[in-house]
Amino acid sequence: MDNHNGYLDYLKEGILNLLYPFSCENCGKEIKESKGYAICENCMKQIKIISYPYCYRCGKPLSSMVSFEDKVICSECARKKSFFYFVRSVTYYQGVMRKCIHLLKYKKQVKLIQPLGKIMVDYLNKNHDINIQEIDLVIPVPLFKDDFAKRGFNQSSLLAGYIADYFSISFSEDLLIKNKENLSQVGLSKSERKDNVKHIYSINSSRSIDHQSILLIDDIYTTGATVEACCKELIKTGVRNIFVLTLARGI
Ligand SMILES: [Zn+2]
Ligand SMILES: [Zn+2]
Repeated sequence: MDNHNGYLDYLKEGILNLLYPFSCENCGKEIKESKGYAICENCMKQIKIISYPYCYRCGKPLSSMVSFEDKVICSECARKKSFFYFVRSVTYYQGVMRKCIHLLKYKKQVKLIQPLGKIMVDYLNKNHDINIQEIDLVIPVPLFKDDFAKRGFNQSSLLAGYIADYFSISFSEDLLIKNKENLSQVGLSKSERKDNVKHIYSINSSRSIDHQSILLIDDIYTTGATVEACCKELIKTGVRNIFVLTLARGI
């Protein structure tokens, strides 16, 4: 969007807000000078960033620390033999963040990508566990085509695009493909959840990613089964590193 259109949009929105003031979806207070985000700035400030200590590998926030090969890792990661990627999550999936993600996914409040993407960019600028200068390619966890058609967008892809754009890194929306719908994860045990996501993802082989460092973006990390399934496909292609960044973390 060029500046001229941006300015027109701003004017249009200002006029609309004057005529039809709307309230923050979280606190109910009227938003006077909105950028169309549906959540007021005060509520946005309540979003809590996950800070150290957390597991070096999966990013799980830790109350007590266990040292393992000079890195602090959680007991679950300590049991795993190989771990070819590591995960960081920016915020907790609760409160205002939970509300934001719901508004984005189920009420199609796509404008929230801007403040939410900014939170992820700020995290990457401050937290150097992921060295953004080393990343060759940013990709999202894909949606199955029917889900994409239903929603009209992939929130993880919009976030990944925002990050790639900000840091001027290559972005590929369709490197990873989701081949089928996974069954509901609700009420399944951890091992059942893992089976559920087996063979769901594959690589679009038209692009070579040999020796590249990949940044994989998702909105929410819960059990890790999704990112693990994606990374298992990526590693087969000979990538150098895989870093995973999610906007929020469920556990
Ligand atoms: Zn509010
Ligand atoms: Zn861990």
